[in-house]
Amino acid sequence: MKRIGVLTSGGDAPGMNAAIRAVVRKSIFMGREVFGIHRGYLGLINGEIKKMNLGSVADIIHRGGTILLTARCEEFKTEEGQQKAIDNLRKYGIEGLIVIGGDGSFRGALDLGKRGFPVIGVPGTIDNDIPCTDYSIGFDTAINTVIEIINKIRDTATSHERTFVIEVMGRDSGWIALESGLAGGAESILVPEVKFNIEQICDKLLKGYRRGKLHSIIIVAEGAARGFDIGEAIKERTGFETRVTVLGHIQRGGTPTAMDRILASRLGAKAVDLLIQGERNKMVGIKGKDIVAIDLDKVLSEKKEFDFNIYELANTLSI
Ligand code: ADP
Repeated sequence: MKRIGVLTSGGDAPGMNAAIRAVVRKSIFMGREVFGIHRGYLGLINGEIKKMNLGSVADIIHRGGTILLTARCEEFKTEEGQQKAIDNLRKYGIEGLIVIGGDGSFRGALDLGKRGFPVIGVPGTIDNDIPCTDYSIGFDTAINTVIEIINKIRDTATSHERTFVIEVMGRDSGWIALESGLAGGAESILVPEVKFNIEQICDKLLKGYRRGKLHSIIIVAEGAARGFDIGEAIKERTGFETRVTVLGHIQRGGTPTAMDRILASRLGAKAVDLLIQGERNKMVGIKGKDIVAIDLDKVLSEKKEFDFNIYELANTLSI
């Protein structure tokens, strides 16, 4: 394999740039040429393809977002769209493609794989909802952003003796809520993976109030409920002054943490190794301390496991 292509697709995540840098530098180190595709599958269909060199990825390891830009593209879901994409790749002599993105992007990648074009997926999403890998690129930065905000809200919550509800991202996954809730010392964490009972949440708040707690913080995953609905329900049942904050897209931005940069560097470099070794249609991931390669078919047929032990621990420590 002489020429490798790389693109970012779907929702962006901090650390994607570190992954692009790793793909470009490792490819060049291995004597290969590397091409960056702009705007994900949309750019692939439109032929937005540029050769990259060592300097193309200088000074980006610490930047959020993605220098290759990202997009969503309905046309790519069609046979004609995918054929156009493959034609463009062949036009540039690209023989293998590295796709940095989430599960939607991997479905697209596997479609190319099934049409005979070698692909490798690199998990990049703040949601941490990709199966077969402990973590995806961007998750660590996102939870650090959330706990920084929890710290700030905690200050004002204490001064005013209020209950704060913080809605976090994660789509159908409760991972951001779970880990930021534990690290931020939240009283309750609502996730889509566990059915919640509003009466129990309010009982816990009242118990805390009776023993002199000055404030309470409830973390709500967007996939579990709307923060404003939970705020209303708590106010109705307890009479507490409740404030709601919906964090939104700030969770997707910012300079990536050391953890995300290291993960992105390792996964990006491994993706290049796999293509050169003749592997195809795999995703790279991390299991414990090891970088692993898993069939994309398997990744897309599974659901990310939720860590109920951490969930129980967070409940235990917030009694
Ligand atoms: P993410 O990768 O973050 O999950 P999306 O679900 O939006 O983001 O997917 C990104 C892009 O991947 C889509 O805009 C589309 O071009 C492509 N894609 C998503 N699902 C499929 C699918 N089932 N088949 C082919 N391509 C898909």
